[in-house]
Amino acid sequence: MKQSQREYKRIVVKIGSSLFCEGDFTAFNALAAEIADLDKNQGKEMVVVSSGAIALGMSMLGLKERPKEMYMLQAAAAVGQNDVIERYRGIFKSKGCHVAQILLTRDDIKRERHLNARNTINALLKHGVIPVINENDTVSTEEIKFGDNDLLSALVSRLISADLLIILSDVDGLLDKDKKTIRIVSHITPQIRELACPTDKKACVGGMITKIEAAKITMASGIPCIIANGRHTNILASVISEPEKHGTMFIPKERLSEREHWIAFGTRPKGRIIVDEGAKRALLNKKSLLSVGIVACEGNFEAGDIVALSDRQEREFARGKVRIGSKELDKVKGKRSDKEAIHCDNIVLLD
Ligand code: GLU
Repeated sequence: MKQSQREYKRIVVKIGSSLFCEGDFTAFNALAAEIADLDKNQGKEMVVVSSGAIALGMSMLGLKERPKEMYMLQAAAAVGQNDVIERYRGIFKSKGCHVAQILLTRDDIKRERHLNARNTINALLKHGVIPVINENDTVSTEEIKFGDNDLLSALVSRLISADLLIILSDVDGLLDKDKKTIRIVSHITPQIRELACPTDKKACVGGMITKIEAAKITMASGIPCIIANGRHTNILASVISEPEKHGTMFIPKERLSEREHWIAFGTRPKGRIIVDEGAKRALLNKKSLLSVGIVACEGNFEAGDIVALSDRQEREFARGKVRIGSKELDKVKGKRSDKEAIHCDNIVLLD
C-alpha cells in the first residue's frame, strides 16, 4: 500500500531544541498551534516528544555555553522543563486543549515496566489530552539515559503503537550529495548512513545520524517515519496528507516481536563481537554464532547480556544475547569448539 493511502490517526511529533534556542518562538508557536488543531479538530491523537529543557534552562540561568558537568545540565533541565510545558500549555489552551507532562528514563520503558507508561499515555489520549514527553534529564544518569530525543521518540512510537512518527528538523529531510531531498528510504544502507554523517562519527552529536537510528527502530516496528523541516508553514498537515512529497519517508517493515525488539533496541549493548566473513554469512542465514568465527571481543559482558555484532569493516549488522561471557569468549575465539557463543534464536539482524 502506498504510504499516502494509509490512515494516520495516532501521530508522534518530535520537536528539537533548535526551535527553543534563538529567543524567537514564532516557528514553535505555529507548530504547537498546528498540533492542537490536528488533535482537536482533525480527529488525530497527537503525542509530542519535545526537547528544549536544557536550552531554555540555559537562557534562564544566563549560561552562554552548554555546561559540561552533568549536574549543571541536570540543573538547567530542571529550570527549563517548566518553561517548555508552559509554552505548550499557553498555545494548547488558546485552542481548547490540555497538555500533560511525561518525563521518562530508559528504565521506565523496559520490558517489565513499560505498561505503566503505555497505559498512562493511552488514558490521556482517550481524554483528549496531548502528552508532551521529554527525557527525565534531572535524574537520568548514563546507565538509564536515552541520550537523545530522536531515540526517545522512536521508542515512544513503538510503545504506543503509533501510526506515524514525524521528526522535525531544520533541513528538508535527508539530503543527497547534491543537497536534494531523498524522498523515500526503504533500507538503511551504509550509503544512507554516510549521507547522514559524512564526517567523523564522533563529531556527529544528534543531527541526522540519530534521526536515521530512530527511523531504523520505527521501520523495524512497522511504523513509518518522516523527517521534515519544522520551519515550513503547516508542515504537519502537508506531511500527513502527502507523506511522499515532504521530507524523507522511511518505509516500515514487518514489526519485530517484543523479544526481538528488546534484543535489537531495548537496551544498550554491553560489548561488541567482531566476526569473520564466514560467520557473518552464517548469521545472515539465521545460524548460530560459533566461537571459531569470532575475530575479537570488546567490552566486559556476561552470559545473558546483549552485544553488537560487527563485521571486520566494523559495520554493525546484528545484535544478540550471548550465552558465554567476554572472559571465556576471549579464550575460545577463533578456535574450533562446539560452543555456541549466541544461539540463532537470540540473534536479530539489523538492516
Ligand atoms: N532532553 C533534552 C532537553 O530537553 C534534549 C535531548 C535531545 O534533544 O536530544 O533539553
